[in-house]
Amino acid sequence: MTSDTTQTELVAAETEALRGLITCARVVLWDFDGPICRLFAGHAADKVADDLVEWLEGRGLHGLLTDAERQSLDPHIVLRAVGRRHPGSDLVDELEERLTQEELRATSSAMPTPYADPLILTWKAVGARMAIATNNSPPVVRTYLASRGLTSCFTPHIYGRTRQLHHLKPDPHCLNRALSAMGSAPGDALMIGDTPSDLYAAKAAGVPFLGYARNERKEKRLRGAGATTVVASLEQVLELVRTASAFSPNSSSNFSSNFSPKRSGQL
Ligand SMILES: [Mg+2]
Repeated sequence: MTSDTTQTELVAAETEALRGLITCARVVLWDFDGPICRLFAGHAADKVADDLVEWLEGRGLHGLLTDAERQSLDPHIVLRAVGRRHPGSDLVDELEERLTQEELRATSSAMPTPYADPLILTWKAVGARMAIATNNSPPVVRTYLASRGLTSCFTPHIYGRTRQLHHLKPDPHCLNRALSAMGSAPGDALMIGDTPSDLYAAKAAGVPFLGYARNERKEKRLRGAGATTVVASLEQVLELVRTASAFSPNSSSNFSSNFSPKRSGQL
């Protein structure tokens, strides 16, 4: 067997795995920042993290963060670190509110993920039910979805950051809230995420996982964490959703029979 043959077989096997994930999913749980948009595309996340650190330092709280946390340039790492040291405090509430305001500002320059909008609309149209399970603030998600005309695809199933920071992914809390509210078994759902913490949260909730990686670095991180099905573009997912629905519009094939009809009052 040549290495080309092996490579072809690997690609074919992964496409089959992807088709399996798609046809079995009655409920699709989306991470927000990454699979749906790049929230900080025009509004640097490292600047936001820096501002949070500076704000803490301005209050004489320099020692609250380790050097690694201070230099992480990741606002969620800063927030989570403070949450661990002062759970339920006014300080955490204030910091969370500051991050929410920054995220809200970022929505106006967020970059839609290629093919995310048509994929959401198409999947919804063929009967899948959708929820957002994110570490971002729910008002931020609502603002972005409204700007893209996607609100009705998800409402009311948007589960995001609360001031209980220990519930952030990789904790499965937001996935469990979505499954419970939608009356879905974990095995009937699919989580789409772009980071190892999405994968760990999905595993903890018992939900199958599809990784989205817009570059090789992100793909390596996901595969290194144990993700087995990762796509570089949502176009591939869209094509499979379209193909599966086109060939089984009213049949009893896996794809159509696995989608439960929308229940009134739930979405
Ligand atoms: Mg993400």
